[in-house]
Amino acid sequence: MVRMKRRNFIAASTAAPLVSSAASNGRLAVLGGEPVRRSGFTSWPKWDQTEENALMGVLRSGRWGRHGTGNVEAFEKSYAELLGAKHVLATANGTSALFTSLNALGVSPGDEVIVPPYTFVATINVVLLQYAIPVFVDTDIESFQIDATKIASKITDRTAAIVPVHMAGCAADLDTVLKTGAERKIPVIEDACQAHLGEWRGRKLGTHGAAGCFSFQASKNLNSGEGGAVSTNDTSLFDRCYSFHTNGRNRMPGGQEFVASGANLRLTEFQASILRSQMARVEAQAQTRNDNAKYLTSLLEKIPGIKPVRNYPGCTRSAWHLYMLRYDKRAFADVPRSTFLKALAAEGIRGSSGYTPLNKQPFIKDTLLAKGYRKIYPEKLLTEWYDRNQCPVNDRLCDEAVWFTQTALLGPRSDMEQIAGAIAKIQAQAAQLRTL
Ligand SMILES: *Cc1c(COP(=O)(O)O)cnc(C)c1O
Repeated sequence: MVRMKRRNFIAASTAAPLVSSAASNGRLAVLGGEPVRRSGFTSWPKWDQTEENALMGVLRSGRWGRHGTGNVEAFEKSYAELLGAKHVLATANGTSALFTSLNALGVSPGDEVIVPPYTFVATINVVLLQYAIPVFVDTDIESFQIDATKIASKITDRTAAIVPVHMAGCAADLDTVLKTGAERKIPVIEDACQAHLGEWRGRKLGTHGAAGCFSFQASKNLNSGEGGAVSTNDTSLFDRCYSFHTNGRNRMPGGQEFVASGANLRLTEFQASILRSQMARVEAQAQTRNDNAKYLTSLLEKIPGIKPVRNYPGCTRSAWHLYMLRYDKRAFADVPRSTFLKALAAEGIRGSSGYTPLNKQPFIKDTLLAKGYRKIYPEKLLTEWYDRNQCPVNDRLCDEAVWFTQTALLGPRSDMEQIAGAIAKIQAQAAQLRTL
């Protein structure tokens, strides 16, 4: 009885203003009713004759590698201008941008690197590639970002870098991260792989720390299939990044040819030509995502049990690589998140449950207990690592999170009404989903 009353209340107060079309008020699609929408969201990537011409230009030049036709350098210059950074170095992908930055900052075996558990695996893999120890700092559940207030207590004599991730393109609390780094003289590398054109206090994400790392992988808001970049205002760090990414070559002509060890992590002219074409679209797309995300938040805030991501006041613009929210099943007749996502997909709106707890991935523990690490670190440090890196708030977040991809934010405002409408529709009839 109580539940009935509550459902009616929700339907009257929330669903009604959001759900305008007749279809949305009908039976749930997962139970055989009409879906809220039939077509998918905007296709991705966006391209036209501009990209085609650019690619053909490189092809016909016959000079396809870096330095061939100047596309890589031209892209670096225009991306640096867009960011307001002194230097940008294009790399093969975002992972290699992070790998290059850690190397250029001298992160070595014996060091610790502070990382969040709520991120893509690459943030951690680059630390393991250095035979350094990832030290996880728990998540702030409301912002989905590293809980910056907990960083200081994780710093030790071994800490060589702090790597905040601007998760989903929303900003980590940079005021606290940068202050903590400065106080302990530890460099900050921003993982801005999801954060193109996001801002903290009016300055672009990726330009606040010693280095910022970007990804241009196929799903990212600026995309060339694969690709990445390091941004920095420190010329000597830039020189070291440049060398590392091209087999240790000297950036300055005239001197010794090889000045350090390194790898080949160069971007090709093909990729740079695509990125230069895509750069013409990137600002307008960022604006559309931002407008739509804000509108979607205003609609979702009215639905009990749906908690949209909260940005810190310093985040003057989010890149919205993902739209993230938390789902509280108690407001949905105790229907588990997986069933909610199934019902939502049936309504024509695809969401995902996002990351699982990275700090608990067996491969990290296995890596730390394998031969290489055992040669470097005391046994106790390695065997105690797992218990010392528990992140209970992040575990809870991983159970509650729901994501929509950035393409869901590139359509008309009415798409936002459909997303919110579908969620309200599911809520109003949630009790019927308990048997699914
Ligand atoms: C995509 C991504 C990376 C890695 O970028 P790739 O280009 O796929 O190598 C690193 N960190 C985060 C947070 C990412 O989202």
